Order: sequence, then structure tokens, then C-alpha cells
Amino acid sequence: MQLFFQNLSAGMEFLPRLSLTGIIEICIISWMTYAFLTWVMDTKAWILLRGLLLIVAFVGFCTLFHLDTILWLLGQITTIAVTALIIIFQPELRSALEQLGNRNILSFLNGLMGESGSASSFTEHTVNELVRASFEMGKVKTGALMVIEQKISLNDIVRTGIDIDGIVSNQLLINIFEHNTPLHDGAVVIRGNTIVSATCYLPLSDSMRISKDLGTRHRAAIGVSEATDAVTIVVSEETGRVSVARAGRLEVMATPEDLRELLLSLIAYETESKHFAFNGWNFLKGKEKHEKDNTQ
Ligand code: ATP
Ligand code: MG
Repeated sequence: MQLFFQNLSAGMEFLPRLSLTGIIEICIISWMTYAFLTWVMDTKAWILLRGLLLIVAFVGFCTLFHLDTILWLLGQITTIAVTALIIIFQPELRSALEQLGNRNILSFLNGLMGESGSASSFTEHTVNELVRASFEMGKVKTGALMVIEQKISLNDIVRTGIDIDGIVSNQLLINIFEHNTPLHDGAVVIRGNTIVSATCYLPLSDSMRISKDLGTRHRAAIGVSEATDAVTIVVSEETGRVSVARAGRLEVMATPEDLRELLLSLIAYETESKHFAFNGWNFLKGKEKHEKDNTQ
């Protein structure tokens, strides 16, 4: 047994030493590979990757059999092909960069500095009105799309609609989404306790994972949740089902209580992040100690 461990430790000497930075690098590279593959599978980039693999296999074949003329030709068109691919896949690349910037870095920085898209806070009364409106519309199969702004400002989306500036209420929401009325098409944007605008146009998701049974209303709800941190309530005109889209996923709300719980958790999250923002920003500015000293 002792001999075994001696041999094992002798064998280990040949292995490169793993430092802390090495472990961190392995973790980051693993995460980046996972994120890249998930992104590729979710978008049209999957088709691109398959095409690229085919080209790589073809280049391998040409190298193996010394098909020099073809290799020379491929070498000549590489630069043009890369430029063409960037142009063709510009929307996918743009949305990937938007997601990276919006969700991870900017929302963290916004949170740290206490900057928020929502001008005022979201109260329990607003939650109750949203829940009532959603399920009442669901009962009579009135389609609706309600986007609740979080930390990332939805001003770009608000600009595509008609200004409302009304307090969120069950009656107002039902009135807006009533069939054959001028405001029923598109989405409403809710900021705090206010319906900021209606008939807003949302970015459509191009995820390949979305069920073919879902139409553009649901695709728009998922689209805005991919590009921003907004939470969107969708009421289906076809089934009357109430769902919530957030972080690129759609969740069906079986009961009003499910929706209420989810919306209340947003208030809790908002309160927590405000607390975090206050402490974090003050900590960075070295203010906290100063304030404590003043209150003593
Ligand atoms: P439903 O289950 O209610 O039928 P759906 O997912 O099948 O929903 P559609 O039937 O295509 O979707 O719904 C079309 C409606 O969705 C449009 O009339 C419009 O009000 C809304 N809508 C579609 N695309 C967008 C968009 N990009 N932004 C905002 N609203 C949209
Ligand atoms: Mg439909």
C-alpha cells in the first residue's frame, strides 16, 4: 500500500502544478464554453456551427490528400467569409452582447449605485390589481401583455407606444385590452404603480426552444425578458392561460395565488437590492462609517 502511494506521488510530480489562478481559469473557461454552447443551441448560430464543422472537416480532408489548389482557394476566401458571417449573424451577435451587458454587468452596476429603471416602488395593491386583471381577462379570453419594468429602463419600448400615465387598476387594464379598442394591440409598460404606456412593441425572441404552439404574443414576452430584466405577464387569447416571462423563460401561472406570490417576490427582491445598493455604494464611498459616527 505504501509502495502504491509512493508510486502515485512520484507519478504526480510529472503533472503540471495547479495554482489558484489555474483553477479560476478552468472555472471561467468552463463557464464560457457552457454559455457559448447554450447560446449556439438557442439561436440560428447552431446552423452556422454545423456549417463551420463541415468546412473544417473538408479542410482536414484536403490537407490529408494534399489538395493544394483547393486549400489555396479556401485561404483566399477566409477573410471575405468571416466578414460575411459577421454581417449575416449581426442580429444574433448584437442580442448576445445586449444580454451580456444588460443582465450581468449593467444591472450589477446599477444595483450597486442604486440606479433603477422603476421611478417609484411597486406596492401590494398594484400586485392585487394585476392578479385580478390577469385572471379576469383569462376567464373571458382577452389577450394581454403587461411588461413590469425592473432595474433596466424600458424607455426605448415605452417610446414605441402611446402615453397613458395612469395608476395601475384592474378596470383600467381590462379596458385597455378590450377587443377592438384603439389601445388593445401590443403591450403595456408598468413602472412602479403606473401604467406608463400602451400599444408598445416588444422585441421578438428568436429562441429555437419556444414551442411552435405559442404565437407572437408569447414570443414577444420572452423576447423582452431576454433583452432586459423585465417581468412580463401574458394572457392568452386562445386558451385564457396566464403566464409570466422572465429571464428568457415562460412559466404558466395555474392559480391567482401563484402569480401573486411571484409578483410579491419582486417587491421583496426590490427591497433587498435597494438595501444592498445602499450598503454597497456607501461602502465604496467610505460613507457608512461616517454616518454611523454621526448618529452616535
Ligand atoms: P394568444 O395565445 O393570445 O393567441 P399568441 O402567442 O398565439 O397569443 P398571437 O395570436 O400571434 O400570439 O397574438 C397576436 C397579438 O400579440 C397581436 O395582436 C399583438 O397584440 C400582440 N403582439 C404580437 N407581437 C407583438 C410584439 N412584438 N410586441 C407587442 N405585442 C405583440
Ligand atoms: Mg394566437
